[in-house]
Amino acid sequence: MSAKIAAPRGTFDILPEQSAQRALVEQAARELLEGAGYARIETPAFEATELFSRGVGEATDIVQKEMYSFDDGGGRSLTLRPEGTAPVCRAYVEHGMHKLPAPVKLYYFGPFFRAERPQKGRYREFWQIGAEALGSDDPAVDAELIALLHELLRRLGATVRLRLSSLANAQTRAAYRDELAAYLRANEHELSETVRSRIDLNPLRAFDADDLRTQAVMARAPRLIDRLDSEDAEHFAQVRSLLELAGIGYEIDPALVRGLDYYTRTVFEFTSDSLGAQSGVGGGGRYDGLVELIGGPPTPGIGWAAGIERIVLAADLQLPAPQPPQIYVAHEGRRAAAFQLLLELRGAGRRAEMELGGRSLKGQLKHAERLGTRYVAIVEEDGVRLRDRESGAERTLSAEAVVRQVLSV
Ligand code: AMP
Repeated sequence: MSAKIAAPRGTFDILPEQSAQRALVEQAARELLEGAGYARIETPAFEATELFSRGVGEATDIVQKEMYSFDDGGGRSLTLRPEGTAPVCRAYVEHGMHKLPAPVKLYYFGPFFRAERPQKGRYREFWQIGAEALGSDDPAVDAELIALLHELLRRLGATVRLRLSSLANAQTRAAYRDELAAYLRANEHELSETVRSRIDLNPLRAFDADDLRTQAVMARAPRLIDRLDSEDAEHFAQVRSLLELAGIGYEIDPALVRGLDYYTRTVFEFTSDSLGAQSGVGGGGRYDGLVELIGGPPTPGIGWAAGIERIVLAADLQLPAPQPPQIYVAHEGRRAAAFQLLLELRGAGRRAEMELGGRSLKGQLKHAERLGTRYVAIVEEDGVRLRDRESGAERTLSAEAVVRQVLSV
């Protein structure tokens, strides 16, 4: 025997039962989002690397160390998509969607790739459901998107908490970055090595530090949320009051820095206490500069993404009972006749299976019982013996009569 080949580290197989759970998540998301006017979009699994280095940001962990990039054979660098927002914005620009009535509301469902250290709830290939609304900076869009993710998680039975913040606009943030970097430099001797090395590159990430001394420094740090200009403060106040109107509870978390550079104004994250270290179920925010950054017209936008594996872990999913075939076609060597009957039954819209495992007649009947089929059609030389397993009744009929009989129930 040859050596076994396992799936790569950080990847997983989606087995039939898991597939059924994920289908429930997908179906709930589809119903909810399409009901709110979001249309499905799918973008390629890989994109030009530049889309992410420019869009997500050179200084982010994703771009610095988590991308699976490769040469396309012609000297152009491609990357397996680590996130969905930049690709959706790329498609928005490429297909001239800015000419459509705003906001353009889109959602997606598919696999994403990040070279992260695998652990429970963190994989190298994972799936996300995401929603984006492009072309409007109305705070009601922010509130609507947050309410949609909140409702999706509620319908799926996940208990979550919502953290909310505002990251202001690019100018305010640049001034704040300088202020924060100066503060970090003044307290450098108390910071962890990683944070110290990132003061210039990405000082906001210091809020994410696990190190206790760094956390103590960050607890006293100046806060971006206290530096919002009047327009951003007003936008944030509107979003909050709409969430309150919707009865959605939230905590303001001034340290909420999402790991992507493109965010402006509203940012949010839903977490679940049942997930352990990787507690983020889904999150997102506004990215008013992103479309322009990747070559489109100035366009406000906002969106979120939620991890399917984490939703499944956090949710309480009630799987519907699998539907057994209605009829099992048994035979002892009469393969062609059995196959023809199978096709007729299926053609008539019945869920039908036939014997394919080389079992004895007794074994076939046992198998039909295991599957839970009501009818077994035993193909014999002079007709088809139709057994109703529910009543125990049995009669020999023609193939056509079997189809008619099964159709009549
Ligand atoms: P992000 O794009 O980083 O904001 O992630 C959005 C959501 O995707 C997170 O809240 C997680 O639910 C999920 N997610 C992100 N990275 C991973 C990963 N490596 N493995 C599994 N789920 C992930």
